[in-house]
Amino acid sequence: MSGARQVKFYQVGSLAAGNRLLAPALRSGQADPDRSNALTCGHRACQGCGEALGARYVLDAAQRASGGKVIAVNATGCLEVFSTPYPETSWQLPWLHSLFGNAPAVAAGVAAALRAQGRTDVRVIGQGGDGGTVDIGLGCLSGMFERDDDVLYVCYDNEAYMNTGVQRSGATPPAARTATTQTGAPFGQGKSLPLIAMAHGIPYVATATVAGLRDLEAKVHRAMGMRGARYLHVLVPCPLGWGTASHDTVRVARLAERCGLFPVFEAVDGEVTDVTPIRRRIPVEEYLRPQKRYAHLFEPEVRTDVIARLQRAADRNVARFGLAEEEAP
Ligand code: SF4
Repeated sequence: MSGARQVKFYQVGSLAAGNRLLAPALRSGQADPDRSNALTCGHRACQGCGEALGARYVLDAAQRASGGKVIAVNATGCLEVFSTPYPETSWQLPWLHSLFGNAPAVAAGVAAALRAQGRTDVRVIGQGGDGGTVDIGLGCLSGMFERDDDVLYVCYDNEAYMNTGVQRSGATPPAARTATTQTGAPFGQGKSLPLIAMAHGIPYVATATVAGLRDLEAKVHRAMGMRGARYLHVLVPCPLGWGTASHDTVRVARLAERCGLFPVFEAVDGEVTDVTPIRRRIPVEEYLRPQKRYAHLFEPEVRTDVIARLQRAADRNVARFGLAEEEAP
Protein backbone atom coordinates (compact mmCIF):
# COMPACT_ATOMS: atom_id res chain seq x y z
CA MET A 1 0.00 0.00 0.00
CA SER A 2 1.79 3.11 -1.14
CA GLY A 3 1.68 6.10 1.20
CA ALA A 4 0.22 4.14 4.13
CA ARG A 5 2.07 3.89 7.41
CA GLN A 6 3.21 0.50 8.48
CA VAL A 7 1.21 -0.67 11.48
CA LYS A 8 1.81 -3.52 13.87
CA PHE A 9 -0.61 -6.35 14.38
CA TYR A 10 -0.42 -7.31 18.03
CA GLN A 11 -3.24 -9.79 18.19
CA VAL A 12 -4.60 -11.30 15.01
CA GLY A 13 -8.37 -11.18 14.89
CA SER A 14 -8.88 -8.65 17.66
CA LEU A 15 -11.11 -5.63 17.25
CA ALA A 16 -8.04 -3.40 17.52
CA ALA A 17 -6.22 -5.21 14.73
CA GLY A 18 -9.37 -5.27 12.62
CA ASN A 19 -9.73 -1.55 13.11
CA ARG A 20 -6.30 -1.10 11.55
CA LEU A 21 -7.68 -2.41 8.31
CA LEU A 22 -9.68 0.81 7.99
CA ALA A 23 -8.32 3.94 6.35
CA PRO A 24 -6.21 5.89 8.90
CA ALA A 25 -8.77 8.70 9.08
CA LEU A 26 -11.48 6.26 10.12
CA ARG A 27 -9.48 4.49 12.82
CA SER A 28 -10.06 5.18 16.45
CA GLY A 29 -8.56 4.41 19.83
CA GLN A 30 -5.92 1.74 19.86
CA ALA A 31 -5.81 1.45 16.06
CA ASP A 32 -4.88 5.12 15.62
CA PRO A 33 -1.41 5.01 14.01
CA ASP A 34 -0.40 8.05 16.09
CA ARG A 35 -0.81 6.10 19.33
CA SER A 36 2.22 4.37 20.75
CA ASN A 37 0.03 1.77 22.49
CA ALA A 38 2.40 1.69 25.44
CA LEU A 39 -0.06 -0.66 27.13
CA THR A 40 -1.21 -2.76 24.25
CA CYS A 41 -3.98 -5.32 23.84
CA GLY A 42 -3.82 -8.90 25.04
CA HIS A 43 -3.55 -8.15 28.78
CA ARG A 44 -5.81 -9.76 31.34
CA ALA A 45 -7.71 -6.89 32.92
CA CYS A 46 -11.40 -7.46 33.60
CA GLN A 47 -13.79 -6.27 30.94
CA GLY A 48 -14.41 -2.55 31.44
CA CYS A 49 -11.41 -2.02 33.74
CA GLY A 50 -11.00 1.70 34.35
CA GLU A 51 -7.38 1.26 35.38
CA ALA A 52 -6.41 -0.30 32.03
CA LEU A 53 -8.17 2.54 30.22
CA GLY A 54 -6.58 5.24 32.34
CA ALA A 55 -3.07 3.79 32.17
CA ARG A 56 -3.21 3.43 28.41
CA TYR A 57 -4.16 7.07 27.94
CA VAL A 58 -1.62 8.32 30.49
CA LEU A 59 1.33 6.41 29.04
CA ASP A 60 0.46 7.16 25.43
CA ALA A 61 0.15 10.87 26.23
CA ALA A 62 3.48 10.76 28.09
CA GLN A 63 5.11 9.03 25.14
CA ARG A 64 3.80 11.70 22.78
CA ALA A 65 4.98 14.48 25.09
CA SER A 66 8.48 13.05 25.41
CA GLY A 67 9.14 11.82 21.89
CA GLY A 68 8.74 8.22 23.03
CA LYS A 69 11.39 8.42 25.75
CA VAL A 70 9.64 7.25 28.88
CA ILE A 71 10.67 4.74 31.53
CA ALA A 72 7.77 3.53 33.70
CA VAL A 73 8.09 2.11 37.20
CA ASN A 74 5.07 0.17 38.41
CA ALA A 75 4.06 -0.71 41.95
CA THR A 76 2.55 -4.11 42.64
CA GLY A 77 -1.18 -4.06 42.07
CA CYS A 78 -3.86 -4.88 39.52
CA LEU A 79 -2.12 -2.92 36.76
CA GLU A 80 1.07 -4.92 37.22
CA VAL A 81 -0.72 -8.26 37.69
CA PHE A 82 -2.93 -8.09 34.63
CA SER A 83 -0.27 -6.63 32.32
CA THR A 84 2.69 -8.90 33.07
CA PRO A 85 1.74 -12.52 33.73
CA TYR A 86 5.18 -14.14 33.40
CA PRO A 87 6.59 -14.55 30.78
CA GLU A 88 4.26 -12.21 28.89
CA THR A 89 3.95 -8.43 28.94
CA SER A 90 1.63 -5.89 27.40
CA TRP A 91 4.07 -3.01 27.89
CA GLN A 92 5.77 -1.56 24.87
CA LEU A 93 8.13 0.76 26.70
CA PRO A 94 10.91 0.27 29.29
CA TRP A 95 8.96 -0.88 32.34
CA LEU A 96 10.08 -1.93 35.83
CA HIS A 97 8.04 -3.74 38.43
CA SER A 98 8.91 -2.62 41.96
CA LEU A 99 7.57 -3.81 45.30
CA PHE A 100 4.10 -2.77 46.47
CA GLY A 101 5.34 0.22 48.42
CA ASN A 102 8.57 1.46 46.86
CA ALA A 103 7.63 2.51 43.31
CA PRO A 104 8.24 6.23 44.09
CA ALA A 105 11.70 5.41 45.50
CA VAL A 106 12.60 3.20 42.53
CA ALA A 107 11.36 5.87 40.10
CA ALA A 108 13.42 8.48 41.97
CA GLY A 109 16.44 6.19 41.64
CA VAL A 110 15.93 5.83 37.90
CA ALA A 111 15.64 9.62 37.60
CA ALA A 112 18.85 10.05 39.63
CA ALA A 113 20.71 7.55 37.42
CA LEU A 114 19.58 9.40 34.30
CA ARG A 115 20.69 12.70 35.84
CA ALA A 116 24.11 11.20 36.61
CA GLN A 117 24.38 10.18 32.96
CA GLY A 118 23.34 13.63 31.78
CA ARG A 119 20.23 12.18 30.11
CA THR A 120 17.65 14.94 30.35
CA ASP A 121 15.71 13.64 27.35
CA VAL A 122 14.45 10.45 29.05
CA ARG A 123 11.51 11.00 31.42
CA VAL A 124 10.38 8.85 34.33
CA ILE A 125 6.87 7.90 35.36
CA GLY A 126 5.99 6.10 38.57
CA GLN A 127 2.59 4.52 38.82
CA GLY A 128 0.50 2.46 41.18
CA GLY A 129 -2.98 1.85 42.50
CA ASP A 130 -4.42 3.56 45.56
CA GLY A 131 -3.20 0.82 47.91
CA GLY A 132 0.40 1.11 46.76
CA THR A 133 0.19 4.90 46.73
CA VAL A 134 -2.07 6.08 49.53
CA ASP A 135 -1.13 3.41 52.06
CA ILE A 136 1.93 1.24 51.51
CA GLY A 137 3.98 3.63 49.39
CA LEU A 138 3.07 6.88 51.13
CA GLY A 139 6.42 7.29 52.92
CA CYS A 140 8.41 6.76 49.71
CA LEU A 141 6.09 9.09 47.83
CA SER A 142 6.39 11.81 50.44
CA GLY A 143 10.18 11.52 50.23
CA MET A 144 10.01 11.78 46.44
CA PHE A 145 7.90 14.94 46.80
CA GLU A 146 10.17 16.40 49.47
CA ARG A 147 13.32 15.90 47.35
CA ASP A 148 11.47 17.22 44.29
CA ASP A 149 12.69 14.24 42.27
CA ASP A 150 12.09 14.59 38.54
CA VAL A 151 9.26 12.03 38.37
CA LEU A 152 5.62 12.18 37.36
CA TYR A 153 3.84 9.83 39.76
CA VAL A 154 0.38 8.63 38.70
CA CYS A 155 -2.08 7.03 41.12
CA TYR A 156 -4.88 5.02 39.49
CA ASP A 157 -7.47 5.20 42.25
CA ASN A 158 -10.07 2.42 42.24
CA GLU A 159 -10.69 2.95 45.94
CA ALA A 160 -9.66 -0.46 47.32
CA TYR A 161 -7.11 -3.28 47.04
CA MET A 162 -8.67 -4.96 44.02
CA ASN A 163 -6.01 -7.48 42.97
CA THR A 164 -6.00 -9.14 46.39
CA GLY A 165 -9.79 -9.38 46.73
CA VAL A 166 -11.31 -5.91 47.27
CA GLN A 167 -10.02 -5.00 50.72
CA ARG A 168 -10.43 -1.46 52.06
CA SER A 169 -7.60 0.97 51.34
CA GLY A 170 -6.91 4.43 52.72
CA ALA A 171 -8.70 5.80 49.65
CA THR A 172 -11.90 3.77 50.13
CA PRO A 173 -14.74 6.27 50.54
CA PRO A 174 -16.99 6.24 53.60
CA ALA A 175 -19.90 3.73 53.53
CA ALA A 176 -18.46 1.67 50.66
CA ARG A 177 -18.64 -2.08 51.23
CA THR A 178 -15.41 -4.01 50.75
CA ALA A 179 -14.28 -7.47 51.82
CA THR A 180 -13.00 -5.96 55.06
CA THR A 181 -15.80 -3.43 55.63
CA GLN A 182 -18.91 -5.56 55.23
CA THR A 183 -21.23 -2.92 56.65
CA GLY A 184 -19.52 -0.07 54.83
CA ALA A 185 -16.24 1.76 55.39
CA PRO A 186 -16.37 4.05 58.46
CA PHE A 187 -16.85 7.79 58.15
CA GLY A 188 -13.95 10.05 58.98
CA GLN A 189 -11.44 7.63 57.44
CA GLY A 190 -9.70 7.87 54.10
CA LYS A 191 -7.12 10.29 52.76
CA SER A 192 -7.02 12.86 50.01
CA LEU A 193 -3.62 12.24 48.43
CA PRO A 194 -3.96 15.20 46.05
CA LEU A 195 -4.29 17.53 49.07
CA ILE A 196 -1.39 15.78 50.81
CA ALA A 197 0.70 16.20 47.65
CA MET A 198 -0.23 19.89 47.47
CA ALA A 199 0.89 20.34 51.06
CA HIS A 200 4.40 19.36 49.90
CA GLY A 201 4.38 22.40 47.59
CA ILE A 202 5.45 20.35 44.56
CA PRO A 203 5.29 21.98 41.10
CA TYR A 204 2.17 20.20 39.84
CA VAL A 205 -0.77 18.24 41.24
CA ALA A 206 -3.87 17.31 39.27
CA THR A 207 -6.89 15.03 39.42
CA ALA A 208 -8.76 13.47 36.51
CA THR A 209 -11.15 10.63 35.71
CA VAL A 210 -11.56 8.24 32.82
CA ALA A 211 -14.75 10.13 31.95
CA GLY A 212 -12.54 12.97 30.68
CA LEU A 213 -9.83 11.31 28.61
CA ARG A 214 -8.92 14.48 26.72
CA ASP A 215 -8.61 16.33 30.02
CA LEU A 216 -6.45 13.48 31.33
CA GLU A 217 -4.18 13.62 28.28
CA ALA A 218 -3.88 17.41 28.54
CA LYS A 219 -2.84 17.12 32.19
CA VAL A 220 -0.21 14.51 31.35
CA HIS A 221 1.16 16.82 28.64
CA ARG A 222 1.26 19.73 31.09
CA ALA A 223 3.01 17.63 33.72
CA MET A 224 5.54 16.31 31.21
CA GLY A 225 6.38 19.89 30.28
CA MET A 226 7.57 20.52 33.84
CA ARG A 227 10.50 19.25 35.89
CA GLY A 228 10.54 18.07 39.48
CA ALA A 229 8.02 16.00 41.42
CA ARG A 230 4.57 15.96 39.88
CA TYR A 231 1.46 14.04 40.96
CA LEU A 232 -1.61 12.94 38.98
CA HIS A 233 -4.53 11.23 40.71
CA VAL A 234 -6.93 9.45 38.33
CA LEU A 235 -10.28 7.97 39.36
CA VAL A 236 -10.59 4.59 37.62
CA PRO A 237 -13.80 2.67 38.41
CA CYS A 238 -13.37 -1.08 38.92
CA PRO A 239 -16.39 -3.10 37.76
CA LEU A 240 -15.38 -6.03 39.97
CA GLY A 241 -14.87 -4.13 43.20
CA TRP A 242 -17.55 -1.50 42.72
CA GLY A 243 -20.18 -3.93 41.49
CA THR A 244 -20.91 -2.01 38.32
CA ALA A 245 -21.59 -3.16 34.79
CA SER A 246 -18.46 -3.32 32.66
CA HIS A 247 -20.03 -1.01 30.09
CA ASP A 248 -20.73 1.60 32.79
CA THR A 249 -17.13 2.44 33.74
CA VAL A 250 -17.00 5.82 32.02
CA ARG A 251 -20.57 6.70 33.06
CA VAL A 252 -19.88 5.95 36.74
CA ALA A 253 -16.69 8.04 36.63
CA ARG A 254 -18.72 10.90 35.16
CA LEU A 255 -21.35 10.56 37.91
CA ALA A 256 -18.56 10.75 40.53
CA GLU A 257 -17.53 14.09 39.04
CA ARG A 258 -21.06 15.41 38.61
CA CYS A 259 -22.18 14.73 42.17
CA GLY A 260 -19.10 16.45 43.62
CA LEU A 261 -17.58 13.46 45.41
CA PHE A 262 -14.55 13.50 43.10
CA PRO A 263 -13.35 17.06 42.44
CA VAL A 264 -11.35 17.55 39.25
CA PHE A 265 -8.74 20.27 39.55
CA GLU A 266 -5.14 21.35 39.00
CA ALA A 267 -2.72 22.89 41.46
CA VAL A 268 0.64 24.56 40.82
CA ASP A 269 3.13 25.05 43.66
CA GLY A 270 0.52 24.03 46.21
CA GLU A 271 -2.25 26.37 45.04
CA VAL A 272 -5.37 25.37 43.10
CA THR A 273 -5.14 27.04 39.69
CA ASP A 274 -8.01 25.47 37.76
CA VAL A 275 -11.10 23.33 38.35
CA THR A 276 -13.49 21.50 36.07
CA PRO A 277 -16.86 23.02 36.91
CA ILE A 278 -19.86 20.74 37.31
CA ARG A 279 -22.56 21.24 34.77
CA ARG A 280 -25.96 19.93 35.81
CA ARG A 281 -25.01 18.71 39.25
CA ILE A 282 -26.70 15.51 40.48
CA PRO A 283 -27.47 14.27 44.00
CA VAL A 284 -24.99 11.68 45.32
CA GLU A 285 -27.75 9.07 45.28
CA GLU A 286 -27.58 8.93 41.47
CA TYR A 287 -23.89 8.04 41.74
CA LEU A 288 -24.35 5.51 44.56
CA ARG A 289 -27.30 3.52 43.20
CA PRO A 290 -25.62 1.81 40.21
CA GLN A 291 -22.87 0.43 42.49
CA LYS A 292 -23.35 -2.81 44.43
CA ARG A 293 -20.77 -1.66 47.00
CA TYR A 294 -23.43 0.80 48.17
CA ALA A 295 -26.41 -1.59 47.84
CA HIS A 296 -26.73 -1.79 51.65
CA LEU A 297 -27.68 1.90 51.64
CA PHE A 298 -30.84 1.13 49.67
CA GLU A 299 -31.96 -2.32 50.91
CA PRO A 300 -33.63 -3.55 53.05
CA GLU A 301 -34.27 0.10 53.92
CA VAL A 302 -33.00 3.36 52.49
CA ARG A 303 -30.30 4.75 54.78
CA THR A 304 -31.19 8.41 54.38
CA ASP A 305 -28.86 9.33 57.26
CA VAL A 306 -25.79 7.83 55.55
CA ILE A 307 -26.73 9.21 52.13
CA ALA A 308 -27.17 12.65 53.71
CA ARG A 309 -23.64 12.45 55.18
CA LEU A 310 -22.23 11.58 51.77
CA GLN A 311 -24.21 14.44 50.25
CA ARG A 312 -22.64 16.79 52.79
CA ALA A 313 -19.18 15.53 51.81
CA ALA A 314 -19.95 16.28 48.16
CA ASP A 315 -21.30 19.72 49.11
CA ARG A 316 -18.06 20.44 50.99
CA ASN A 317 -16.02 19.58 47.89
CA VAL A 318 -18.17 21.80 45.71
CA ALA A 319 -17.74 24.72 48.11
CA ARG A 320 -14.06 24.09 48.78
CA PHE A 321 -12.99 23.87 45.12
CA GLY A 322 -15.63 26.19 43.67
CA LEU A 323 -17.04 23.42 41.49
CA ALA A 324 -20.51 24.83 40.93
CA GLU A 325 -20.47 26.35 37.46
CA GLU A 326 -21.27 29.87 38.65
CA GLU A 327 -18.63 29.59 41.40
CA ALA A 328 -15.82 28.40 39.12
CA PRO A 329 -12.97 30.90 38.67
S1 SF4 B 1 -10.21 -6.12 39.57
FE1 SF4 B 1 -10.77 -4.03 38.95
S2 SF4 B 1 -8.84 -2.88 38.72
FE2 SF4 B 1 -8.37 -5.10 38.70
S3 SF4 B 1 -8.36 -5.69 36.54
FE3 SF4 B 1 -10.43 -6.09 37.32
S4 SF4 B 1 -11.59 -4.20 36.88
FE4 SF4 B 1 -9.39 -3.71 36.70
